[in-house]
Amino acid sequence: MIKNFNEIITGIKLMKLPQTEFVKFMEDIHDPFIVLIACILSLRTNDKTTYPAAMRMLKLGKTPKDFLTVKTEDMEKAIYPVGFYKNKAKQILDIAYELYHNYDSVVPKEIDELIKFKGVGRKTANLVQSKGYNIPSICVDVHVHRISNRLGLCETKEPEETEFALKNNLNKSCWSEINTLFVTLGQNICKPSKPLCHKCKLTDFCKYYKTLSNLFTNR
Ligand code: SF4
Repeated sequence: MIKNFNEIITGIKLMKLPQTEFVKFMEDIHDPFIVLIACILSLRTNDKTTYPAAMRMLKLGKTPKDFLTVKTEDMEKAIYPVGFYKNKAKQILDIAYELYHNYDSVVPKEIDELIKFKGVGRKTANLVQSKGYNIPSICVDVHVHRISNRLGLCETKEPEETEFALKNNLNKSCWSEINTLFVTLGQNICKPSKPLCHKCKLTDFCKYYKTLSNLFTNR
């Protein structure tokens, strides 16, 4: 188990970082179907684009049944310009159709069942578990993967490895809050190419920061 993880959580909370509209929206929704389709929209798309697209999509419907009569071109128009909007429009409508006809409109809880749907990977499945069903789960996106490695919580190459490493090393009670906290940290401070370490309250726990500091002091 990673001993100082609670201090990391506290450090991030103390920074009081602003959340995007999309992050706030995802924090507030607990409907598994909406979590699922909103997460699909967000893949490879920034939050600024995803949020209004999600709002337009939800005007077309909020349940699998609602989407049965939605035409593909209307869904495409609603979610444009999210990345791969044509594929995503089809995936969302196909998932709605399948849920309605084969699952009694109930989104499955199990990751292995969720990833059978086209367009649904482990990241989305974990988010459905944690936000839609309140089941402890870790949704590993690019921010969670990058920051976990920088902090030294794991040493992994792929997000899926990060998910398993974190699940092995962290207490279940904190699994579900990691995504929102790390996403917000990644969007504001621990940015991909130039992390703003001088503004970060995690320097005492951060492997990346300590390695950089040692490099400068040993020059
Ligand atoms: S100290 Fe720097 S690298 Fe470490 S988590 Fe903070 S911003 Fe990221």
